[in-house]
Amino acid sequence: ALEGGQDAILVSSGMGAVTGALLLLLKAGDHLILTDECYHSTLNFCEKFLPRYGVESSLVPHGDYAAIEAAIRPNTRLILSESPTNPFNHCLDLKRVVEMAHSRGVKVMIDSTFATPLNLRPLDYGVDLVVHSVTKYLAGHNDLMAGVVIGSVKELTPLRQMQALFGQIV
Ligand SMILES: *Cc1c(COP(=O)(O)O)cnc(C)c1O
Repeated sequence: ALEGGQDAILVSSGMGAVTGALLLLLKAGDHLILTDECYHSTLNFCEKFLPRYGVESSLVPHGDYAAIEAAIRPNTRLILSESPTNPFNHCLDLKRVVEMAHSRGVKVMIDSTFATPLNLRPLDYGVDLVVHSVTKYLAGHNDLMAGVVIGSVKELTPLRQMQALFGQIV
């Protein structure tokens, strides 16, 4: 409700949200564009783990829109970015990225952990999926771990089906 999303899936950590969404959206032969300046474990997962499953990633400078556009290939499925970034607080022109992605049939996922829905609602700009480490500001008291994936019912129904299979249960 805070993000203005149709549906949300709560998982046991922020990384559970990021990796669950990536494993759902991507399959062998797909290509992912990731902006640098992202959470170190997200970068680690995309660079060290996804290649084992045949998913290639391109790392582009955060905020370099020409580089993002140039990195789009026929098999690009997703652009993953953060706004603001952890830890440098750089913001992204979401409308611009969404326009360039959707015109090429590419989805956009934003890790909005640092923004919180109080400051930014990426879905309002056409972003397909929003993830949060609920462990951070959303929980607020440094006493629990959780993650959330927010989006349309259509995007999230397959993820909910996958959730039990992967054991990402809260
Ligand atoms: C902390 C953080 C994560 C990972 O969250 P956990 O709940 O610790 O797994 C992912 N993305 C960002 C931007 C974060 O700050």
